Amino acid sequence: MHHLSAHQLSDAFKKGEFSATTIVDHFLSRIRQHDEVLGSFLNLFEDRLHDTAKKLDHKRQMNQPLGKLAGVPIGIKDNIHIKDEITTCGSQFLLNYRALFTATACQRLEDEDALLLGKMNLDEFAMGSSCENSSIKPTRNPWNLDYVPGGSSGGSAAAVAARLCPISLGTDTGGSIRQPASLCGIVGLKPTYGRISRYGLVAFGTSLDQIGPFSTNVADSALALEVMAGRCANDGTSLREKPMNYSQELHGSLKGVKIGVPWHFLENLNDDVKANFEQSIETLKNAGATIVEVNLDKLKYSIAVYYIVATAEASTNLARFDGIRFGVRSNDAKTLDEVYDMSKEDGFGPEVKRRIALGTYVLSSGFKDDFFNKALKVRRIIYNEYQNAFKQCDLIAMPTSPFTAFKIGAIHDPLQMYLADIYTISVNLAGLPGISIPSGFSNDGLPYSLQLIAAQKQEHTLLSAAHGFETITGFTKKMPEMAK
Ligand code: GLN
Repeated sequence: MHHLSAHQLSDAFKKGEFSATTIVDHFLSRIRQHDEVLGSFLNLFEDRLHDTAKKLDHKRQMNQPLGKLAGVPIGIKDNIHIKDEITTCGSQFLLNYRALFTATACQRLEDEDALLLGKMNLDEFAMGSSCENSSIKPTRNPWNLDYVPGGSSGGSAAAVAARLCPISLGTDTGGSIRQPASLCGIVGLKPTYGRISRYGLVAFGTSLDQIGPFSTNVADSALALEVMAGRCANDGTSLREKPMNYSQELHGSLKGVKIGVPWHFLENLNDDVKANFEQSIETLKNAGATIVEVNLDKLKYSIAVYYIVATAEASTNLARFDGIRFGVRSNDAKTLDEVYDMSKEDGFGPEVKRRIALGTYVLSSGFKDDFFNKALKVRRIIYNEYQNAFKQCDLIAMPTSPFTAFKIGAIHDPLQMYLADIYTISVNLAGLPGISIPSGFSNDGLPYSLQLIAAQKQEHTLLSAAHGFETITGFTKKMPEMAK
């Protein structure tokens, strides 16, 4: 059952080959078997799942219409709310926080009869690139348990790679869907900013955050996107226009598709990643795509701009965690000031504190013009440069990550860790859709991947080309030993 795609699993359920209850039991038993070492789930909705499965089986028996995701188990990153369930954000601060409402994305999955499995591990408040910043536990990479799965949506990526669920949700503020998808050898899609409602997602960088799916193949991500996308009255930044039925748009032909490559920006790539990337470009070319060089020189500023904009927004968003309205209150605090100070001191981990300090600094009077306002100007320049590039091509190709998965504990320097997102971050700054798709394996068996980027709202072009690449290369069919 766990080798089936979400499409196949749902068809099998609809035909009556498996009941929803059997599906739930199968995946729960796989999780019990593997997740002790993998560490991808923080919480399983066992009772709720059995209830939903029973109702779904009844619905099928009564021949009532079934949703697009009927019988598909889906894991949810633990910074997305599901009513009455705990949302920890991977933080000690929120270990006791129960959500008061369900995120629009999750509601839309449930409305199409998906089975929500549980909550997945992440870097605290989605800040990180390895999942090592989770204050709860580490998650491991299913291809090699000594390695990180990437982050911040490391739990969601590891679980899909290990076939503990066919689809999961992640969030991507600077790369947190695409980078772990890359390190775990699966498909990860970051939609256009505003494509999927952020209602019910705990905000990190409000102007950058976007929910998106992980899956083992492109068609399943397309399906999850079409279910979740679309205007939501509770999110003023959600796109107004009607989304497409993306899973019907996977023509997959690369003939005549123009793909831009910013070669000069890729000069410092490691030899092995570069060789793999060049091979992917050859594959695209052989399939009929036209490769053109595009100038994205200003992307060299994207890490600097991102760590000003994202930390500024994070420092504002995280101000609400004060030990009074939300979060675990310090037991030792005796005065109101102490409640604020000590709750934050105990509740937040070092990376979150670093971001709040940096964000407060770049917004402070006297420095705001030099840092925050200047960063916004450079952000606009980066956006314009992408706009210009898309006059020459339909898609842009880059590696997703400058390296394959690294060993747990190998990167200590936060700045070094920030560089993990060098190829993903500008996509969020410009609000574009991007996808990471496996493109081969290193000598030590770790996945490489190709990132494709489209102009805003062009997910159909993006998914179709990714599907073409997947069909030719077959890399999405490979799975780690523990998934077999
Ligand atoms: N790694 C980046 C950061 O730490 C991006 C995180 C994300 O996309 N949530 O901020």
